[in-house]
Amino acid sequence: MADSTGFLKYDRALPPRRPVDIRLLDWKDVYLTRETGEDAVFPVTAIRQQAARCMDCGIPFCHHGCPLGNLIPEWNDLARRDDWTEAVERLHATNNFPEFTGKLCPAPCEGSCVLNLQESPVTIKQIEWEIIDQAFQRDLVTPVPPQEHTGKKVAVVGSGPAGLAAAQQLTRAGHDVTVYERADRVGGLLRYGIPEFKMEKAVLDRRLDQMRAEGTRFVTGVEVGGGAEGDLSVEQLRADNDAVVLSGGATVGRDLPAPGRELAGIHLAMEYLPFGNRQALGELDDPPINARGKHVVIIGGGDTGADCLGTAHRQGAASVTQLEIMPAPPDQRDPLSNPWPTYPMIMRVSSAHEEGGERLYSVNTERFIDDGNGTVRALLLHEVERVDGRFQKIEGSERELPADLVFLAMGFTGAQREGLLEGLGVEIDGRGNVARDGEFMSTVPGVFVAGDMGRGQSLIVWAIAEGRAAAGAVDTWLTGASLLPRPVTPTAVALR
Ligand SMILES: Cc1cc2nc3c(=O)[nH]c(=O)nc-3n(C[C@H](O)[C@H](O)[C@H](O)COP(=O)(O)OP(=O)(O)OC[C@H]3O[C@@H](n4cnc5c(N)ncnc54)[C@H](O)[C@@H]3O)c2cc1C
Ligand code: SF4
Repeated sequence: MADSTGFLKYDRALPPRRPVDIRLLDWKDVYLTRETGEDAVFPVTAIRQQAARCMDCGIPFCHHGCPLGNLIPEWNDLARRDDWTEAVERLHATNNFPEFTGKLCPAPCEGSCVLNLQESPVTIKQIEWEIIDQAFQRDLVTPVPPQEHTGKKVAVVGSGPAGLAAAQQLTRAGHDVTVYERADRVGGLLRYGIPEFKMEKAVLDRRLDQMRAEGTRFVTGVEVGGGAEGDLSVEQLRADNDAVVLSGGATVGRDLPAPGRELAGIHLAMEYLPFGNRQALGELDDPPINARGKHVVIIGGGDTGADCLGTAHRQGAASVTQLEIMPAPPDQRDPLSNPWPTYPMIMRVSSAHEEGGERLYSVNTERFIDDGNGTVRALLLHEVERVDGRFQKIEGSERELPADLVFLAMGFTGAQREGLLEGLGVEIDGRGNVARDGEFMSTVPGVFVAGDMGRGQSLIVWAIAEGRAAAGAVDTWLTGASLLPRPVTPTAVALR
């Protein structure tokens, strides 16, 4: 039973971020953690008050916002009552990795929360983080090894959140699971895309320890279908395994074919961010792409762009400007086109935006300008307006924007075809993703697809949901029946 007056007694409140001038000196989490003083500033009693704001709604709309079907009112009430053992059990019932979503999810559940009708939703994401962090602190997260082994072998290709979720579910169901990752470490975008200041890698590593103890095997530095020595051929992959899960992500970055694109100093975001992550971990002092002292321009106004922004500021950029072709979103949702309980499309200030830089909206890059030595010196921009749904240049609005370094953060066009996918001969759909049926199976029998590789560029919460659902389909295919949950179908979409 919820506290029936909690939402009247307590206002929505979140833990503070560390002061900007302090956090820019390091790469640590922008929020206070237990090590940096969270307990003193936002004690667990404050989180329990936030949990008490949940009304345990008759129709909990928060459920509809979350593809995992998280049991939000149940664990809100358990957190309120200080029962972390039961709370984490309920949390894990629907989500293998609540610490990833508790740190990184844009929280569509909060957009759908009934209290968001008054723009003060329950702080669901923060409560989720608190439950799982309390559980790790109290040694409540222990390995859950399988009780029986099926003798079936499954390969998971790609170790992002989709692959990890599929692997954990299938290992626990008793299959012999090996995860192949071409990078030198496990984690996909959680490892080398998302910066340390958004989620410290230690958070990922403690979960991987649990997975290893349960029996999941990880093989890193091996590209399946790659041509380098030590890589694994697709023929060997098929021969060695009874089923395969493809979870290689949507790794092909969208490029900008504007004149001057070939100049030095212009990079895709994912050419830059992995170096920043290695610098954050002390593995590189002077990364090959370094914003120190430079005028940086980021093309693309989304989260990937914000990650470039925060990384460039920590490297000591002279200035950072983020460009977006769309107009600035409104401060409040439009009740007609974007009503509750859909996700509010409003202006957001991420931690990186709080740290500085300028955001320009309704602008387009006409060309990149050479410094005379083959390196970018500036961008030629113009303003745009929308006419009949198409962007049109506003004549006379051209101007130069100085740029020593440009990052293209305009999204991803789909999965890499060469190597793995061409070798397997799977069909690609019209959107550049691996085609699959209602059971997450590609056009090649026994080869399943989960996460961004099948859905296209999406979110961690969707990757975990797809990994869980695909595991249920694989288990059924291998054994004829499965008790594993399937929270989403391949064609499920966010609440619209
Ligand atoms: C910079 C950035 C920041 C983001 N921030 C957020 C955020 O804050 N919140 C959020 O919800 N979402 C965020 N996203 C989106 C989110 O990270 C992705 O939707 C999610 O990681 C997709 O998971 P996945 O498992 O499908 O693939 P990925 O995480 O992309 O993992 C795929 C892995 O497969 C490996 N691989 C590919 N091919 C092969 C092969 N042939 N052999 C071996 N390994 C292979 C790749 O090396 C990679 O490690 C962000 C995305 C980016 C790019
Ligand atoms: S919609 Fe909000 S208030 Fe209602 S049950 Fe969900 S979290 Fe609680």
